[in-house]
Amino acid sequence: MNAITSKFPTAALIDGTWVTAQKSFSVSDPATGEEIARVPDLGADDARRAIDAAAKAFPAWAATPAKARAQILERWFDLITAETEALAQLMTAEQGKPLAEARGEVAYGASFIEWFAEEGKRAYGRTIPTTVASRRYITIKQPIGVVAAITPWNFPIAMITRKVASALAAGCTIVVKPSEETPLCALAVAKLAMDAGVPPGVFNVITSADAASVGNVLTSDPRVRKLTFTGSTEIGRLLYRQCADTIKKLTLELGGNAPLIVFDDADLKQAIAGTMASKYRNAGQTCVCANRIIVQAGIYERFTAALVDAVSSLHVAPGRDPRSTIGPLINADAAKKVESLISDAVSHGAKIRTGGAPDTQGALFYQPTVVTEVTPDMKIAQEEIFGPVASLIRFETEADAIRIANDTPFGLAAYLFTQNIGRVWRVAEALESGMVGVNEGVFSNEVAPFGGVKQSGLGREGAAEGLEEYLETKFICLGGIS
Ligand code: ADP
Repeated sequence: MNAITSKFPTAALIDGTWVTAQKSFSVSDPATGEEIARVPDLGADDARRAIDAAAKAFPAWAATPAKARAQILERWFDLITAETEALAQLMTAEQGKPLAEARGEVAYGASFIEWFAEEGKRAYGRTIPTTVASRRYITIKQPIGVVAAITPWNFPIAMITRKVASALAAGCTIVVKPSEETPLCALAVAKLAMDAGVPPGVFNVITSADAASVGNVLTSDPRVRKLTFTGSTEIGRLLYRQCADTIKKLTLELGGNAPLIVFDDADLKQAIAGTMASKYRNAGQTCVCANRIIVQAGIYERFTAALVDAVSSLHVAPGRDPRSTIGPLINADAAKKVESLISDAVSHGAKIRTGGAPDTQGALFYQPTVVTEVTPDMKIAQEEIFGPVASLIRFETEADAIRIANDTPFGLAAYLFTQNIGRVWRVAEALESGMVGVNEGVFSNEVAPFGGVKQSGLGREGAAEGLEEYLETKFICLGGIS
């Protein structure tokens, strides 16, 4: 164990107790392939114990005044903020992203805790004008109950805090199964939550290399009233099905295939800055990364040249190198997928303008790449690339751009670059997506609702909508008033 991992737990958390197991699995640094820690490989029985703990803790947590819950969450926010550097280093070690991005994610992840600490105080019900003189109508908001969360590796802290902070603020208790690629960040923030005074059983973390067994328990136990999942559409679909028998509420943040449309009348500088931020952040491994860069014919060549120029300033290196702006991909499968999408595109006529090959930094590093002459039928335009590859499609008219952008089963993020205000409205309204960035490449934050339409998911996270996802509305009819 090294200095970076020794500061935080490598045991799982059930009912306020750090638990180990006979079986463990390895967590490795994607930049080097070296093992940085081992964590318990828990199974179905442990998941059941965590649900027991969350169910036992629920009544007292739900009855704790929102203000008192907020005070605990505020302390959690403060502790995370104070540990920014240690958490960022841990994240870079297990996930690979450049340190500057990891620091940014700690702040982003913490922002959900601060926001929901406040928003939990505003879980207002309503009084409704009556229809009968002897009655009064009221609604109250109550926490759903025990929540299960299954989270991905690309934002190892923010995807946990976005779910846990909103659930806890609403009065729910939670069992989290983090990605097997990045359990250490989950355990680190859970420790800080314990230090902040989150009571035993309210927040549990099950580390496991057997996602299917743990997932089965979390989705079939009737005491779990809600599942919140961020990950692939394929697994989301499976979990949706598994939740049907017990009619669980669901929040699903699934895959995307974000279009980024650049019109002839765009400000070229803005379009390049937005594309760079949207495409190359986290080495292209975000579900809102521009996956299809759809560029109008009149600006196509100028945009390509400027993008290639901007890409030449990226620095591929392990995330811990302060100059790094592109770290490794998460694992060998991810690297293989990027290579196969590029070779498929090239074999169908796409042209590599820069990059297009693995980088010499190590097995999981890929060169930042720009590919042009991509057509919508190529695999690279239909599947999530999840790598540092900008794929450029050419279009002629506004109607073409909208048609190409919407020609996908996904609908998470979309981006458009134009200086024409009428076009902004027309296109933003026509895009089939949950979020639209206009002249902006990065827009996620704690105060705005994040989520998708079509097969990109159900529900929203962050914002007032994010709290609502963890609340039930109860209607109380007060009769007999004379
Ligand atoms: P990715 O391809 O981005 O890793 P996944 O959807 O495979 O996305 O993983 C997201 C999360 O879902 C991870 O925590 C992973 O362990 C979990 N997961 C994967 N398969 C299953 C499953 N069958 N049941 C429950 N959780 C799963």
